[in-house]
Amino acid sequence: MHHDPNCIFCKIVQGAIPSRKVYEDDEILAFHDIQPWAPVHFLLIPKAHIPSLAQVGAEHAGVLGRMISLVPGLAQREGCRPYPEGGFRLLCNTGADGGQEVAHLHFHVIGGPRPWRKG
Ligand code: AMP
Ligand code: ZN
Repeated sequence: MHHDPNCIFCKIVQGAIPSRKVYEDDEILAFHDIQPWAPVHFLLIPKAHIPSLAQVGAEHAGVLGRMISLVPGLAQREGCRPYPEGGFRLLCNTGADGGQEVAHLHFHVIGGPRPWRKG
């Protein structure tokens, strides 16, 4: 599996930087965001280093599909209320114009009762 030695999320995958884990399997990791916007805010990443959604192609359809299919269950387990009164926001900042700060593909899962700190 490809890791970038300078990437903070690769370091989290490898355990070199601690995280509060929400979910883990062979290919996917989810952990709490250190600066949450809302009562629920965690990040879902592929363990392999993919810089952003801009690099994603057909070869990534499997892992991306699995990531998205994990979202509803993890969101509810972490405290998002059920749809439609509850729900969550799924966000993938991509590139500088997209507001991306960490160059390892990640989905933000944000939710919980409003008001939120941001968003
Ligand atoms: P983005 O702007 O989409 O690249 O967001 C990067 C997110 O990563 C921000 O919400 C940060 O708070 C979060 N973040 C940065 N470093 C860590 C870390 N060590 N553990 C957890 N979340 C982090
Ligand atoms: Zn990485």
